[in-house]
Amino acid sequence: MALIVQKYGGSSVADAEKIRNVARRIAQAKAQGNQVVVVASAMGDTTDELIKLAHQVTEQPSQRELDVLLSTGEIVSSTLLAMALRALGNKAISLSGAQAGIRTDATYSQARILKVESERVANELNKGNIVIVAGFQGITGEMDVTTLGRGGSDTTAVALAASLGAEICQIYTDVDGVFTADPRLVPEAQQLSEIGYEEMLELASYGARVVHPRAVELGELFGIPILVASSFTDSPGTLIHGGISMEIRNRVRSIAHDLDVAKITVVGVPDRPGIAAAIFEPLAKADISVDTIVQNTSIENITDLTFTVAKSQLARAMEVMEPIAKSIGARESISDSKLGKVSIIGTGMQNAPGYAARMFRVLSEHGINIQLITTSEIRITCIINDTQVKDAVRALHQAFKLET
Ligand code: ADP
Ligand code: ASP
Ligand code: MG
Repeated sequence: MALIVQKYGGSSVADAEKIRNVARRIAQAKAQGNQVVVVASAMGDTTDELIKLAHQVTEQPSQRELDVLLSTGEIVSSTLLAMALRALGNKAISLSGAQAGIRTDATYSQARILKVESERVANELNKGNIVIVAGFQGITGEMDVTTLGRGGSDTTAVALAASLGAEICQIYTDVDGVFTADPRLVPEAQQLSEIGYEEMLELASYGARVVHPRAVELGELFGIPILVASSFTDSPGTLIHGGISMEIRNRVRSIAHDLDVAKITVVGVPDRPGIAAAIFEPLAKADISVDTIVQNTSIENITDLTFTVAKSQLARAMEVMEPIAKSIGARESISDSKLGKVSIIGTGMQNAPGYAARMFRVLSEHGINIQLITTSEIRITCIINDTQVKDAVRALHQAFKLET
């Protein structure tokens, strides 16, 4: 008997009819002789709505209370799913993240899983139950509820799969699998039948939200194959795993984009040891996660330092930055909140020259100005105006012949 973990995303459980549909699919997996653990996301846009509600009550909701509030979204969907399964004649039980033993640190809204104490889940499976676990949440050593960051139910699923020794973690969503670009932006995007952890991690980290980056990281760490497939069709999906054949490594595999980018430039920074630390330590203390950092070569010991943050964190980051800029003797700090990122990704770019030049040429031919550039061995990212991201993705998809 195989043990499988299935995860259903928000759009897959958006209403009662969809919940019944998902319940039928889960029941089928069980009827095929598997032990089944299911991780449920909150219904539809519930999480967004709960965040909005909290901000209607107060400008700065308590982090602790906000996490408890958000965790209720997944409690609603997992309990309804258990009810739907029982109505179909299955043995099923729902568990909160805490009941399922998801232990995290105390970083509210971005908690990391420290360990999974999965005995309760295993016991329920052994009793013949389908176990539905509320995704996206865990509990600290102090028994406070935490959430794992937006999209975090994927991470719950892979962590449970690793802890239980599951054969596979299946992530069911509203597209047929992982594509060569977001299929909502590029209708010609092709579905990939498989992709390696390394490429998928870059894709997910640079905006392809179809799988949460930390889920991919955990999958790689524990050798759990992850299948991304549709909860609405029977398409075979995309397998994320480690044993990718050499052939398909040899090209750009996919284009990722991210519209949630803002930048801050600290202008006229004295170039001396300790300045970067003086800027970034207070940002870290304020829980602001900084992404790309670029520092210019200094002229007469004065330089500019630019970094990016999520749009939602820009106001707070500027609040933190302004006094620091003054105290280190910088001229000013300026911001731009209308940016986006476009990335070409593929292990085929490793040690192969020319990809960056081609990417820059394509963007220039479309009149797109590049503001910042960052790279890894298998990725090139350009930060551009957010209004041009859509065009950039489409142009790059075509130029790198990903539609074939
Ligand atoms: P869920 O609610 O199931 O977790 P998400 O909205 O988090 O679903 O992720 C699925 C979405 O990811 C798709 O609807 C699609 O628009 C988007 N997406 C972005 N990039 C890609 C890609 N390369 N392949 C597939 N989907 C992608
Ligand atoms: N409901 C949470 C979110 O919207 C977690 C998830 O769906 O994975 O981010
Ligand atoms: Mg998701």
